[in-house]
Amino acid sequence: MIIRPHHVLCAHFFVGKGYSEAFVAHMRQTLELLSRDGAAVTLTDGCDELCSACPNNHGGVCETETKVRAIDGRAIAAMQLHFGDTAAWSDLCARAERGILAQGLLREVCRDCEWIGLCAGAESDK
Ligand code: SF4
Repeated sequence: MIIRPHHVLCAHFFVGKGYSEAFVAHMRQTLELLSRDGAAVTLTDGCDELCSACPNNHGGVCETETKVRAIDGRAIAAMQLHFGDTAAWSDLCARAERGILAQGLLREVCRDCEWIGLCAGAESDK
């Protein structure tokens, strides 16, 4: 499966909220697939599986591409990976936890994201 790096963080904090009902349903299905043992993911710098059901995806380009690309860049650097790398989903989740969450970097990596309040709030509740 093809996934944008910052979507590892979106998956971590997903609580059933999103851009539309169709987006949320697709996100649930996708996360279910990814949670199976051995699910492999290739990191992309463009629209991915989750974007495929997003109303902000216009012909394969995100409406806020500049912003999300910057978030992807900070996320992938913190996970010490590169675009095009393939890894197990469980490994990506562990890298995000180790390289971003445990370092207190969530607000920095995801700055400018409209969902940061929800994710940072959930993180501080833990
Ligand atoms: S907002 Fe952009 S990056 Fe996020 S899921 Fe939608 S199309 Fe993809």
